[in-house]
Formats: sequence, C-alpha cells, structure tokens
Amino acid sequence: MSKRVMKPSIRTTAVALAAAGLGASLVAGAGSAFAAEGKAAVANPQTAVAASAALAKQANVQAQVAAQAQAAQAKAAQIKAAQLKAATAKAQAVKVAAAKKAPSWVKPVSAYTLTASYNQGGAMWAHKHSGQDFAVPVGTPVKAASAGTVVKAGPNGGGDGPAYGNAIVVKHANGRYSQYAHLSKIKVHIGQKVSAGQQIALSGNTGNSSGPHLHFEIRTTPNYGSAVNPAAFLRSHGVSI
Ligand SMILES: [Zn+2]
Repeated sequence: MSKRVMKPSIRTTAVALAAAGLGASLVAGAGSAFAAEGKAAVANPQTAVAASAALAKQANVQAQVAAQAQAAQAKAAQIKAAQLKAATAKAQAVKVAAAKKAPSWVKPVSAYTLTASYNQGGAMWAHKHSGQDFAVPVGTPVKAASAGTVVKAGPNGGGDGPAYGNAIVVKHANGRYSQYAHLSKIKVHIGQKVSAGQQIALSGNTGNSSGPHLHFEIRTTPNYGSAVNPAAFLRSHGVSI
C-alpha cells in the first residue's frame, strides 16, 4: 500500500484503522503470548526427550574425549618410559666404558718378580713383613695402585721410619691407603691428587733393603702398623699379581 496516493480523508481513516489495528494487535499480541506459553507447555515432553538425547550425545562426546586423553596420556607415558630406558642404557654404557678405560685398581709395577710376601717372617723385619715385595731394577716406574691423594712423600719413609727409605702413602676413596717404599726418586708431593696407574716414583734400594725392589703395602690408616695383605686386597679388586 502506498500512502502517497491516498486522499487526506482516506488517510485519516487509515490512521484510525491503524490505531485500531494497533490496539487489535496489542490484544492479539497478548493472546498469542498466552498461546505461545501453552504451546511451550505442550511441547515440553518433546523438548525433554530432545534435551536428554542431546545430553546423551554430549556425554558420549565427553567419553570419547576422555578416552582420547587417556590414550594420549598412556602414549606419553610409554614414550617417557622408552626415553628413560634409553637414557639408562646410555648411562650404563658410559659407565662401562669409563670402567674399561680406567680400572679402579692396578699393579704398582708392570714387570717384576714377587719376593717377600705379606706376614712372611725373617731377619729383615722387626715384626712380620708388612707388605708385598716386587723385585725390580732400580729406576723402574712405580704407579699409584688406585686414584687418591698423596698424604706422605719423602725420606725416612715419609715419616714412618728410616727402614722404608724414600716412601709415599696415598689415601684412597674406599678408606684404604697404599704405601710405596725403598724408592730412588719421588715424583709427587703431599696433597697431590693421582689417578690409578699414574707414575708417582722410580723404584730403588733405599732404607732397610736387601736389594732393588718395591715394598708395597695396603693400610687401613696412613701409618705403619695398620697393614693388611696387599695381594689378597688387590685380588679382591680384580687384580692378580
Ligand atoms: Zn718389603
């Protein structure tokens, strides 16, 4: 409908009708609102069914998401376990390689003839023999039997007495001490850290010695009188002499 072509009288009527229509529409509006409410009440059971279906669907989706999350978690745990296993294997391999590279205990001299053994009696010693003798020519390299710290080094047995001549005592991590005596030349000083097999001296014939040899002790303290059987000790650490 076009208002522009309407005559004024018709327009008035139209306005009146429009006003009446407005009232009618207000009434109709109230009525339709009521009807809509009723319709909504009637539609409720269907809505409930639809809602419960939606809920079920949602629960299903949630379960799927939870399952996926669980699977992802399990997978992550699996990967982590595999990584840990690989890292452990690698660490073990490194440890084995390190152990191969640097044995914890070694012989104090490479080539020798065993002479007086531990606890052996004889005119040479005031008491029983406190170490193991390795007969070697003067000037043979003497090596630290294991890693440690030099705690005695010098003439007069490094403080243990003149019978030992020039001597060295090394403290080790396991609470044991190794002693090297009758040396011709000392190549370390007190406080120095040494590694297993490191050359620390040259063998000799100093002190109360019947001939060129290395006198070797394993002690439970730095001092004379605490010696244990060095051959048995080395054997228990995988070294046969
Ligand atoms: Zn000896």
